[in-house]
Amino acid sequence: MTQSFRNASSMALILGLTVPILAESRTSETRDPSLKISVRIYNYAAATSGVPAKAQGEAARIFSRSGIETNWLACAIPGREVETNPSCKAKPEATDIQVRILPRKMARKLMNHHSEFGLAFTALGDGFGSNASIFYHRVEELSARRHTSRPLLLGHLIAHEIGHLLLGSNSHSGSGIMHVPWDRRQVERASLGTLFFTPREASRMSDQVSRRMAAVAISARASR
Ligand SMILES: [Zn+2]
Repeated sequence: MTQSFRNASSMALILGLTVPILAESRTSETRDPSLKISVRIYNYAAATSGVPAKAQGEAARIFSRSGIETNWLACAIPGREVETNPSCKAKPEATDIQVRILPRKMARKLMNHHSEFGLAFTALGDGFGSNASIFYHRVEELSARRHTSRPLLLGHLIAHEIGHLLLGSNSHSGSGIMHVPWDRRQVERASLGTLFFTPREASRMSDQVSRRMAAVAISARASR
């Protein structure tokens, strides 16, 4: 993780917003149903097991709305737990995303004024960023402050960080799930299940997933 590779995905920043605000009316019916990514979850924060599972459901629903199917894997913590899932042991491909849910102590090493809830490490040029971290103690704090469920917030924040990986740098928005900072309105919409990516973001993410799937196919052909 070099500095040049690192992109702070802040929800604390109020940025000059360049993404047009669009109505969020398009649904997955207009998308290619075959678009798919796989997400490996590493629960370093030892969040109660039901929390990441429910969060995955929230994030899956959000990506489905954008026409992207997600496959979720609960993977063992490297060096601490024995990995029993063969899919977690497989070498990550371009369509494999890795999300680490970090406790406060680990999060502090990554946190800066750009990062309130997590970080995504986007790639430069034509590369594919695949790693994101969530600061779980911030999820707990937001949950307590807004009297909102942790799994629900965690799911939305995971979707936000994966959104950075699929949208590239400078991907905060004036509306929807990529909006920053998170305020009462975002949390209320999350609670109602109406906080999504904008249609324009969905289109860009779909293009990105298509590119990643093509890269996997090329890699598979080359290895035959
Ligand atoms: Zn962000």
